[in-house]
Amino acid sequence: MRTRGSPRVLLSIMPELPEVETIRRQLAPSLTGQRIRAVRVTRSRAIRAHATADGFRALLLGRTILALHRRGKALLLLLDGDRSLLVRLGMSGQLALAHADTPVVPHTHVVLELSDGRELRYIDPRTFGQMAVVAGHDPAAMRELAHYGPEPLDEAFTVEHLAGVMAGKGTSVEAVLMDQTQVVGIGKIYADESCFLAGVDPRRAARSLTRDEVTRLHAAVRDVLARAIACRGTSGQDSAYRDAHGELGDFQCHLTVYQRAGQPCRVCGTLIEYRPFQGRRVHFCPHCQR
Ligand SMILES: [Zn+2]
Repeated sequence: MRTRGSPRVLLSIMPELPEVETIRRQLAPSLTGQRIRAVRVTRSRAIRAHATADGFRALLLGRTILALHRRGKALLLLLDGDRSLLVRLGMSGQLALAHADTPVVPHTHVVLELSDGRELRYIDPRTFGQMAVVAGHDPAAMRELAHYGPEPLDEAFTVEHLAGVMAGKGTSVEAVLMDQTQVVGIGKIYADESCFLAGVDPRRAARSLTRDEVTRLHAAVRDVLARAIACRGTSGQDSAYRDAHGELGDFQCHLTVYQRAGQPCRVCGTLIEYRPFQGRRVHFCPHCQR
């Protein structure tokens, strides 16, 4: 069924915090302690921070993976020699751990051959994502990540912090939630879902939120992200997001507004709207969200 302002469209899912955290958790046990014994690059755009594939390869060859960390939507493979491999999945990036004899799928741009004979493969049809070797292990000291706000599931993300970043801002609630310098890891899916759970219209000016609304939004962000991680993330109608085992996430079954344009609100039955707003589109229930 079509409704005005709520067109049926194929929404792609760009990996956000829960999807990247899922991949980190799945890969960490297999990758930790492995040595990188060869590096193959078949698309230079996937390593565009480096001048040459040879330069990228030289920084990785022989390095041991010490741990996997995540900062916002970025995945970090901490390596010996005080450097890290920063992985951004962009719009459609995937990481897959495969045996060497498993056929390489199309759009595989970087392959790291590991000491146990398996390969870590970076696949990205649209190639908005990238891999880059950066100095150090501390995200706060990395030029690429130093400007990031607190992790929403860490203690540093308090009601006071959220109230502070909303206060005085004429931009929308949705825009502040998606601003990585204020709080990291949230994109369109979890901004829309958090606003629904909090009962807040995502188009409202950030400064108009009451303390109660900020408190509800803070709890909603944490609740939605934690549940999405437990479901191994959200796969879109295009099924582009796959976890590190190649499986779809489960959280799309629990979405309340995102991808549900024109469908009845799970709380009140009003049709979910999907409206253009300040250069993007937002999903919301016009009855439940004020
Ligand atoms: Zn509703």
